[in-house]
Amino acid sequence: MTGTLDEYRRKRDFSKTKEPTGGNVRSGQDPAFVIQKHASAHLHYDVRLEIDGVLVSWAVPKGPSADPAVRRLAIRTEDHPPDYLGFEGVIPEGEYGAGTVMVWDTGVYRNIRAGKGEESMDMAGSVRDGKVEVWLEGSKVSGGYAFIRTRGGEKPAWLFFKMADEKADPGIDLTGSMPDSALTGRSMEEIEREAGDGDRKKT
Ligand code: MN
Repeated sequence: MTGTLDEYRRKRDFSKTKEPTGGNVRSGQDPAFVIQKHASAHLHYDVRLEIDGVLVSWAVPKGPSADPAVRRLAIRTEDHPPDYLGFEGVIPEGEYGAGTVMVWDTGVYRNIRAGKGEESMDMAGSVRDGKVEVWLEGSKVSGGYAFIRTRGGEKPAWLFFKMADEKADPGIDLTGSMPDSALTGRSMEEIEREAGDGDRKKT
């Protein structure tokens, strides 16, 4: 799936949703990540890593943990365009992923498989290989995190977890103690309330 936005565009009607169409490219910057809190049919967190011009994405129902003993299920989803890094708003009723989206955390990251005798393993190769190890520099989430693929097929299942390093902290509840937007400081309710009419269902 890496490197194509066809599935992303096919699922969306850009005359109805304010999500980015994917026309923009970013260049000359450190690779970024975003973790979006998404209240669609079920509340979940979307973890996206910028790799080769797209955001490689996983839906993580329970979100990130700072405790290396906690393994979180992650489902690979379609690649998203890079300007989705800053998308916060409401996807209208009837559209794919309808519900409120918050930029819960964002920042830059680096590949940490290099330097461990795996220098040739770039990010795209790591995703294909089913083993991704990154150092996240967010405002809430920081340190080493890993994605390990446990099942292939149509909807590949992965595990997402904190690696054991100095940023690990079994005592902190990341999602519970810091619920608001890293971008705007807003709560889910405020994002929903402040969404323009254009974000809402046309009646
Ligand atoms: Mn989602």
